[in-house]
Amino acid sequence: MYERVIIDAGARSALSAHVNAEPLRETGGILLGFEVDERTLRVTAVSPPGPRALKMPRAFRRDTKFLQRWLERRHELSDGRDDYVGEWHVHHALDAPPSCVDCHALWCIARKPNYPTGTPLLIIAEDVPGERRVRGYRFGGRPKWSYVEVTVS
Ligand SMILES: [Zn+2]
Repeated sequence: MYERVIIDAGARSALSAHVNAEPLRETGGILLGFEVDERTLRVTAVSPPGPRALKMPRAFRRDTKFLQRWLERRHELSDGRDDYVGEWHVHHALDAPPSCVDCHALWCIARKPNYPTGTPLLIIAEDVPGERRVRGYRFGGRPKWSYVEVTVS
């Protein structure tokens, strides 16, 4: 089970652009990538929220239909290497860990057979004026979630 996450520089830039686009509301999407080795998960792409996403000051719901197509296209373009590895969204606060709603959503994903991972990653971009942090949380194993180190390559 991975303990650390490397985000490709291009994916990190995409994440920043999506966060910049929504200074007041939450936004988010899905993460694509692959396991480099037993300890390391590499994130290669960060999706946009999709045109029908629900973006509110303290809640977010992604546009699942849009993201399914986005995922399939990227999966093919990478010759099957990149697949769904988790979710991301913004919290407009610092030191803002996963909420109860977040935890429930990620535990469901970990258990569902139609998702290709049993240990989904949640990236939370903590965004307030003048400061931004990116934090990673791994779900589905034991303990029920753990903090994982996130670096940009
Ligand atoms: Zn949240």
